[in-house]
Formats: sequence, structure tokens, C-alpha cells
Amino acid sequence: MGDGVILLAMRENPLGGGADGEQLRRIGKELENRGLALRWARDAREARAVMHTETGLSAAVVAWDLGGGAGTGGEEGGGAEVLRQIERRFKDLPVFLVMADESDDALGRLPLWVSEAVIGYIWALEDTPAFIAGRVATAARAYRKDVLPPFFKALRQFEDAHEYSWHTPAHAGGVAFLKSAAGRAFFDYYGERLFRSDLSISVGELGSLFEHSGPIGEAERNAARVFGADRTYFVLHGDSTADRMVGHYSVTRDEIALVDRNCHKSVLHGLVISGARPVYLVPTRNGYGLAGPLPPAEIGSTAVAARIAGNPLSEGAVSREAQYAVLTNSTYDGLCYDAVQVARAMAPSTPRLHFDEAWFAYARFHPLYAGRYGMAVGPDTFEGPLRPTVFATQSTHKLLAALSQTAMVHVKSAPRAPVEHDRFNETFMMHGTTSPLYPAIASLDVATAMMDGPQGEWLIEEAVTEAVRFRQAVVRTGRRIADAGDRPAWFFGVWQPDTVTDPSTGGRSAFADAPAALLTREPSCWYLEPDARWHGFPGLSKGHCMLDPVKVTLTCPGVTATGETGEWGIPARILTAYLATRGIIVEKTDTYSTLVLFSMGITKGKWGTLMDALMDFKALYDSDAPLHRVLPALTGQFERRYAGTTLRALCQDMHEHLTRAELITALDAAFQQLPRPVAPPQHCYQQLIRQGTRRLRLADATGHVAAAMVTVTPPGIPVLMPGEAIGAPDGPLLRYLRALEAFDRSFPGFHSEAHGVTVDPETGDYLIECVRQNTA
Ligand SMILES: *Cc1c(COP(=O)(O)O)cnc(C)c1O
Repeated sequence: MGDGVILLAMRENPLGGGADGEQLRRIGKELENRGLALRWARDAREARAVMHTETGLSAAVVAWDLGGGAGTGGEEGGGAEVLRQIERRFKDLPVFLVMADESDDALGRLPLWVSEAVIGYIWALEDTPAFIAGRVATAARAYRKDVLPPFFKALRQFEDAHEYSWHTPAHAGGVAFLKSAAGRAFFDYYGERLFRSDLSISVGELGSLFEHSGPIGEAERNAARVFGADRTYFVLHGDSTADRMVGHYSVTRDEIALVDRNCHKSVLHGLVISGARPVYLVPTRNGYGLAGPLPPAEIGSTAVAARIAGNPLSEGAVSREAQYAVLTNSTYDGLCYDAVQVARAMAPSTPRLHFDEAWFAYARFHPLYAGRYGMAVGPDTFEGPLRPTVFATQSTHKLLAALSQTAMVHVKSAPRAPVEHDRFNETFMMHGTTSPLYPAIASLDVATAMMDGPQGEWLIEEAVTEAVRFRQAVVRTGRRIADAGDRPAWFFGVWQPDTVTDPSTGGRSAFADAPAALLTREPSCWYLEPDARWHGFPGLSKGHCMLDPVKVTLTCPGVTATGETGEWGIPARILTAYLATRGIIVEKTDTYSTLVLFSMGITKGKWGTLMDALMDFKALYDSDAPLHRVLPALTGQFERRYAGTTLRALCQDMHEHLTRAELITALDAAFQQLPRPVAPPQHCYQQLIRQGTRRLRLADATGHVAAAMVTVTPPGIPVLMPGEAIGAPDGPLLRYLRALEAFDRSFPGFHSEAHGVTVDPETGDYLIECVRQNTA
């Protein structure tokens, strides 16, 4: 790595004539001689473009009398505008201000804030070019060094030292790979650096993950500061492990845990390991079959007490008080809670509250999400003795920039249930490895540094802005199609409010016409207002839940959020099958909706392609294109089933099947009327290991006890947990699973995503894993 790039924002053309211009050109030359690259900008607009594209900036030299760019209107000129942009974008970037004013009190005439924004001043003709360039280069070099977070910095220094290693890993900096053809290919593929930085924990200088010491400990403490935690733990085996750790630590055998039914598998694994007795809390659902939040009524102390009293497993619990509660925030579909309000509601019922924020590690870095993530619950927002200890677990790799498997546990401890580090660390080590991958730790360290300071907000703002643009573009396109009147008026929709209010003026506007600045900065635009028809969730209160703009759910014709079924429809599975042929892979597909993510990697080109594919699908549908033209792989594989069909006919056939089978109603019943719990998950697991399991057809499963979690998408929530009774043949669970099974038989190639269900390849029958010993 060189010493980076210098932004030179100057009005003068450095290659033109004049004494000043000549002097600046010499300064530039001197900087280049010192190994720095230059990016010239002639006004604020160009400077903005450089900042947008050049992340390697390590210093800036800005003329105070620079010309303005677009958007400059006030008395401050272009120089001031560039300084402000730098402040918004970079943390501690060294900035030198070039002064044209040669009078004695030139500095006195600058606004006060300017002296805080710059580290030095340059009068181009006062010093020699070499001296001026030397100052800039020194500052740039120091910045490049300081910009590195603690562990990554130490790792680089260590690796640069090129010591011989006498310890594991045995590949010894990659050398072992060179001794075989496959090894050589592996070495060449990744390059030497990965292997050189894959070190063993015998390297004392880099610290210890289990002892949280040295540069590793420093990196964790830095992350705690950046993410707002009392303490942060780096986890190298996914948020899955983070969830198991927190569950294993927070609740012990035969204690009650309050568990969001909309939870990830790993939360359940935590219950198996700890021996807890889960009492489930049930989220709402809407007409699309999407899972909503836990409504306020479900998390209040009366409702929780009723859930505990009504659960047969509470009988054998050591106490009727729950030790721990865990909920998913945000949900898959981007629903995030007012975390402080949730903590207040749940505090009477539990001393420990765990937010599974697998998809939400960025929340702290943009004002849109203020108060909506676990670490926002602290003594400053929740006063008094009832404040619970809060854990937040995050898949750092999912939506921040880090390597796969990397995750963090953040802890905010309350006096009511203090987390003593030494005890928590026992659990941490139990789920950890004594041979952590150092590049993975470095990526957690770097992911943290990327979010530290103004650039964190800048990065998230970019994703939010693109998501808002896309959302508005879809609605506007729909409107244009309807207005044109030359083709069928339908188009895809986006799951979002139809209108928004600007709280500062009280003015209401259609979503598509709202100023982008309002939508990217004002949380209330995204609230799930009580009883609003667009979201369709009953029983919400103001501000309880917000839709995260970066999780974009596209809706298809066929049903509404409040559950009215249309005469015709386009089941989303057909749309996503088509998108896949265009190289667009969506995040998740529900019955009539599909989810796409706007993460930090989003570009206009990327969403433009999606928009184009939606328009093309519409054209194919409207022209009743033969299916073999739209989905050739499908018609090739299931020739008999789909021969002679058109796209529209398939959509209609599937829509009618879904309507007739009342799949969404069956789903409702299966999720609202929970199966009867028979044994805590750990008992069930013991039986599974000792007596084993059997795979039973739905027809034979009546009265048996499930051994594995069954999750069906939509809506991605478990319908059956280990230790729960499968129930009667006409009970909600079996009715629902039979409906799905029938759907899969009718539409080969479009089968439901059902985890925990095996499909008999001969007959298409669903098989569920049940414990052998029938305890029901
Ligand atoms: C993905 C996910 C996890 C597990 O995260 P990994 O980093 O993949 O182990 C946990 N909880 C939720 C809600 C998830 O979506």
C-alpha cells in the first residue's frame, strides 16, 4: 500500500500560468515524489465526486476561496462546502486550508468552526514547495497508520516482520501447500498473504481471544465503543454460535425462557443445550402471509403470565418467573422494534433480554434507526431498577463488510442481572475454538472501523438512499403504466405506506412524491401505524414497529395485506423463477411477495436491472407468452406437466390452487394455535440420541412428538418445535402441511421451502422426523 491519495481542491488550473498556479504545480510534483497520488478538483462539485469514488484519500488540501458546486447558496463558498463534506464522510482526515488572503488577520476572518475542521494552513508562496509537501505527506502517512483498527494493525506489523514460525498451523505460512499440485493450486488461488496471516495463538504479540487480551482484546473494546456496548465478544462461528452462547449463559435447566416463535434455529439449539423450558410468544401475521412483530399485547406482563400459566411445561419449572427472553430484531422482512419500549414492556417478566440482530448490525449508525436496536437500551434511556440486562447478537458478515462466519455478542449489563465477565467467558469458551482464524478476527476489526465515525452513517445512508429511490421508482412506474392506458394497468407493488407525513410541516404526500430527504431521515415515515391497511397487521401501537427501508418487499397481484383475494394473481414463486433466469437471485420468496436487500454493495446499475426484469415479466405476462419461452429449464424438466402452458395460464392455475386450498387461512391457524408442548427440547434431544427418530408420513404422524424443528417459508417461522405434539389429523398443523404437500405435487419445480421436512422422492409425500418413543 502506498501512502494514499491526496485531494487537491483548487480553483487555479495547476497546469496554467501564474505564480500561484506554478507554485501549486510544484507542490503537487513534490507530493508525487513522496509516493502520493493526486486527485485535482476545480470546485466543490468535483471535490464531492472525488470523495465519492476515492476511498483511499489520506489527506486533503482545500482552497478556502474555491468555487461552489451545485447546492451552494449561502454565504459560505466552495471551500467551506468541501470542508463540511469531508466532515460528514471521513473521520479525522487531515485537511490543509490554502489561503489566498495575505492580510494579517486572515485567520481571524474565518468562521470559528473552520479551525476545528483543519489541521493546518498553507500560504502557497510563503514556504518552499518541498516543505509544504513534506507537511502534507507526513500527515497523510500518520492518517494511513491511525486509520487501521487495533488488531489489523498489529497483524500487519507482525506479518511484515517475516519471522520463521515453528508452531501450528503446519502449513507454516503456506509453505506446506507448495509440496503438492493441489496444494500449489490452493496457494496460488488465495495468494501468499492469507497463509502468512493465518497464525496460531502461540503468537503472543497478537493477544488471545479467550483472554480478550492484547490487540484482540483492544479490538473487542473498540467494537464495544463503536456499537455502544459495555462489552463486546468476537464470535467466529456465526451468529448461530452467538445465539447459543447467550441462551446457554442466560437460562439453565428447567428454567423458563420466553421465546419469540419467529426465531432462528440456533436459538432453539441454545434451549436444547441449556435445558430450558420454552414458552413461546406469537407474532402477528398479515394477508400476504408475512410474519409481523410481536404485538404490544403479546409482550405485556399479563399476556406473558397467561402464556406461562397455559403452558404444560411450566408445571415442572423451577420457578414461574422467566430468566430470559429472546426476540428477533429486525425480522427477516425488516420489521424493527422500538427496543426501549419493548424492554419496558418485558422488564416485569424477565431480567435478561436478548435481541437477535442477525440482520441488523448497521442500526446504530443511522439516525433512522435511533432507539431500535438492543444496545439502545441502557441507563440513559431506561432509568430505574427494572432495566433488564440486554444482549444483542449480530451476524457481522450478513450486512456489514466482514468474512462469513463472523459475528459479535454485545452486552449491556444491568444491576438487576449483572453479567460478570468471568462467568460469561466460561460460556464463551465452551462454544469457541482455541484456534481462531486471524483473518476472520481482522475482518471483525475492520468491519468495526468502517462504521466508526461519519463514514458509518455515510455508508448506511447510501444504501437507504438507493432503497428509497428504487421504492419510489417502482410506484412511479406503476403509475405511468396506469396513466398510459395502452396496456393492462397492473404492475408490481412495494410493501410500504401509500402516503407519508412530514412531521415538521404536517404536510401529507403520496409516497412516490415525497422528498427523498424526508424518507431517508424521518423514521415516522416508516412506522407501522396502527390499523394501516398497507401492512395489515392487527393490534399495533404507534411507533412500536418500523419498516426498515433497506429490506424491500415486492408485492404481486393476487392478495392484499388485509387478506382479500383477487380474481387473478401472480404467485411470487413464478416471478422469482423468472428473475433467476435473468441472473437476479432474491433473498426470500413468499406466496405473493418477494424480498430484496439493499445492502452496502448496492448500485444503481444493480437495481436498474431488477426494474428492467420486472417490466419484462409484465410484458411476457400481458402477451401471454408460452411458458417454454419464459422458464425453459422448468418446461424442459417437467415436460408433461407444463406442455402447452402459457405464463398467464400457469399463474392463474397456481393462484386458483392457492385460493382454493385456503393455504393462507390454514397457515394462520397453524401459527396462531401452537402445538401442545410435551417435553422440553433437551428431553426430546436425549430421546433422539438414545432411541433415535423415525420419519413418518403425515398420515401416520398423528399423536407423535416432533424431533426436529419444522420451518416453512412462507413465512419462515417454525410451525413445529422439537418436543411438540403433532396433533390430530384435522388439527391446524397437519391440515397446513397437507395443503403444502398437495401444492408441491401439483406444481413440480415450485416446491415450498420446508426445513425439517423430507420429501419422499418416489411419492412426493412429506416425512417428519418424530422421536421413536411415543410420549404423547
Ligand atoms: C442468519 C441468522 C442467524 C445465524 O447467523 P449465522 O451468522 O448464519 O450463524 C441467527 N438468527 C437469525 C434471525 C438469522 O437470520
